[in-house]
Amino acid sequence: MKGMAQVLLDVSICVALSACSRAHPSNLDGAQIRAKLNTIPLDQQVDFTNREWQLIMSPQQFYVMRRAGTERPSLSGNALDHRNGTYVCSACGNPLYRAETKFNSGTGWPSFWQPIRKEAVHESSTFSAIFGVEVSCARCSSHLGHVFNDGPPPTGLRYCMNAVALTYREASPGPVTLAFPRADQGRP
Ligand SMILES: [Zn+2]
Repeated sequence: MKGMAQVLLDVSICVALSACSRAHPSNLDGAQIRAKLNTIPLDQQVDFTNREWQLIMSPQQFYVMRRAGTERPSLSGNALDHRNGTYVCSACGNPLYRAETKFNSGTGWPSFWQPIRKEAVHESSTFSAIFGVEVSCARCSSHLGHVFNDGPPPTGLRYCMNAVALTYREASPGPVTLAFPRADQGRP
């Protein structure tokens, strides 16, 4: 009888453990997801589910960055700050644009004539006359905005971004060596 009780105990522990391990991936809370994000080196891609993003983003950020929405333009959208810092992805912290490449496009959305480096952003292969080419973060695939061919010199490009998708950092990033896949690799 003692042996049988031990077996039953082992079985119930086993069932409890397997239930625990099954539930684990979907049981992360916002703090745990942030902690997980912080452990991923900046030169590696971030592949979170929308459910995970939703736990660490504001509703507006989630609408713009994970649903490819567009925020309303604002009077401060084109304000120039004349600082030397960097705009990073609000979702994953990937450096995207240097402040000195920001210009006043008059649209009400933050506009830049060049990303910090080509590999920092992903540009969709499809073009729309109205919406331009979709631009997303190359590290976490979050939607950022669109790029148009009516920007100022020296590039003639206008990266029209949603302000909620960008976070300003005073410090410039050091030398960046990133190895993100280019173009449509890994994209649906
Ligand atoms: Zn990102």
